[in-house]
Amino acid sequence: MHDGSFLLSPIVNEGTDCSESEDDSNNVMVFSCSDYDTDELENFVTKQKRNITDSLQDYKEIVKGMDFKDIAEAKQFCKLYALAKKVELVVVKNDKKKIELNVSVAKCKRAKKEVLESLEGSFVDSYNKLEGYATELRSCNTGSDIVIDLSKEALSNGNRKFLRMYICFKAMKLDFKSGLRPLIGLDGTFLKGKTKGQAVDNNFTESFNAWILEARYKPIIGMLEDIRVKTMERLAAKKVDVRKWKDDGFSPKSELLFIQYLKLFNVCKVSGNGNNGYEVTEGADRHIVNLRKKKCTCRTCDLTEIPCPHAIKAMKHKKMIPKKEIHWYYSKEATLTVYKHKLQPVRGEPF
Ligand SMILES: [Zn+2]
Repeated sequence: MHDGSFLLSPIVNEGTDCSESEDDSNNVMVFSCSDYDTDELENFVTKQKRNITDSLQDYKEIVKGMDFKDIAEAKQFCKLYALAKKVELVVVKNDKKKIELNVSVAKCKRAKKEVLESLEGSFVDSYNKLEGYATELRSCNTGSDIVIDLSKEALSNGNRKFLRMYICFKAMKLDFKSGLRPLIGLDGTFLKGKTKGQAVDNNFTESFNAWILEARYKPIIGMLEDIRVKTMERLAAKKVDVRKWKDDGFSPKSELLFIQYLKLFNVCKVSGNGNNGYEVTEGADRHIVNLRKKKCTCRTCDLTEIPCPHAIKAMKHKKMIPKKEIHWYYSKEATLTVYKHKLQPVRGEPF
């Protein structure tokens, strides 16, 4: 426990008293570990760092709750303390075989129970502060939609049970409208750890979950804050990235796809009907391209809005420039529009 460190409590006599004192009558110092109690927990928090140096001056004082990195360091300290204070040192043994400087299993269990209880408390506490957090988000990012959905059934019984939360920042709303930004939605199935739910079998959810992996195990406000900060940073980083694209260019993925289609169109053969209809054969396959409707029976254009090899073949036949037919929302201009608005920083607790 506690990074492998342990606690040393000096006492006068054998027993569980933690008070620090020295028996001057016989110059005997007795060391023992007291039973685990809340004082000791505090001692863990306020542990005192002490470097062992060659100067004995540093070893003339023992303070309740001193903390050593391992048994060897504690033993060395005790030895030097005895030398510095000119006292005899007696180590109290637990079972006459092991020295009591080791932490017992029972103590570890009690400490673990206490830590888990405090962790549970922080999870409950986080849900209780959720409304305050929502108010803070609304005031820092005015115009944002923040909705907390509680169980109506639980409310009718006088309890508050969290079901789901919806957050849409105003910046994201504006960007969604101007640049067709996809929507991200989370519900209870996404939560893990103390708030665990079932896994959702979905590629997008999986990659998003991987992106915020560490956050999923935190109390809800810590988790939401992690996601918000990550999103804020991602938007800023993405904008820097997009600025590097060629001015008349498209997203790297769409450019790559288009280059692959350009390689394929060379093996196609085309015959037009004199209007906007074309028959394009690709090996044994034959597709119908309608340039006016921007459709091909292979349906690739419908899905991607990037001209498929058959459409490219037909466009070339009609002396069109196929690259110009890639949809605007893949362009640098559109993507910069998507990242135009910024999330506003949010104050920390107290909410
Ligand atoms: Zn096609």
